Amino acid sequence: MDAALRDTLLQMPKAELHMHIEGSLEPELIFALAERNKVKLEYASVEELRTAYAFKDLQSFLDIYYAGASVLLTEQDFYDMTRAYLQRAHADNVRHTELFFDPQTHTERGVAFGTVVNGIDRALQDARKEWGLSGALIMCFLRHLSEEEAFATLEQALPYRDKFVGVGLDSSERGHPPEKFARVFARCKELGLRLVAHAGEEGPPDYIRTALDLLKVERIDHGVRCLEDAELTARLARDRVPLTVCPLSNIKLRVFDKVADHNLLKLLDAGLVVTVNSDDPAYFGGYVNDNFLQMFEALPLGREHAYQMARNSFSASFLDAAEKQKYLDEVDAFFGQ
Ligand SMILES: [Zn+2]
Repeated sequence: MDAALRDTLLQMPKAELHMHIEGSLEPELIFALAERNKVKLEYASVEELRTAYAFKDLQSFLDIYYAGASVLLTEQDFYDMTRAYLQRAHADNVRHTELFFDPQTHTERGVAFGTVVNGIDRALQDARKEWGLSGALIMCFLRHLSEEEAFATLEQALPYRDKFVGVGLDSSERGHPPEKFARVFARCKELGLRLVAHAGEEGPPDYIRTALDLLKVERIDHGVRCLEDAELTARLARDRVPLTVCPLSNIKLRVFDKVADHNLLKLLDAGLVVTVNSDDPAYFGGYVNDNFLQMFEALPLGREHAYQMARNSFSASFLDAAEKQKYLDEVDAFFGQ
């Protein structure tokens, strides 16, 4: 890749819309928090933990991901984790970020909902003050758990309604179709929450369709398997439904064998509103700029694609119209448009 394009990717203003905050826990921080909280880990060292990051599929990743999250106990832990991610995002010229968090991963270990959300929120407020980096939270329901548990989590969340803008659906996709949570999402819609869901990552294209039709989501997280279904692809393009694509995650979890096999360019060519994101950056080998660099290195992508995806990242966000325009103007100015 030529140096100018590389610089453009690194420097361009961008938003990140698909990042699980618990997936930003680097092994070093996992060990530091384990020590601070006297939590015993199954891994003897940072190196041993990093070696375990050779995943064969989504489930093998989730097993380690939940083990890593077990070191998070206090509000300060959630602050420190979020702060570390925001520092990296700021260095990558991320101007706005919409973070997923998984309260059920913590409440089922006896950590209070407020401990989780207050720690993350305080770090977001500091980033806004210090760097002008805006952030919003999206609460995810773990789809391998029951509808009843999702409703209970929503109840716990309501006293903190001002601290998150929307809800999502993550964890093991196969065997847990969107319709399992149709009633929960209907209730969230009534509450005025923005709606997203992971679909079409490992699961079939049909999960994308049911996420749209039954959950009424506004964005699809991943969605890369949509191309297996021409009618669905046409619909996503026509309705301008954004896809939050996470290339390095897809490689690590074997959705595609290698970077050059990724369908990012095909998705763009199909007229889809594609964004690039890091998903669980500590586990998948890179933050958002690493995702851009590796994709542009491996695929015939150019400056026009960078411009398009930088614009998409803001237009697909849940910012209000005036804030969106401010960032879009900034992107246009950066690209000299
Ligand atoms: Zn994800």
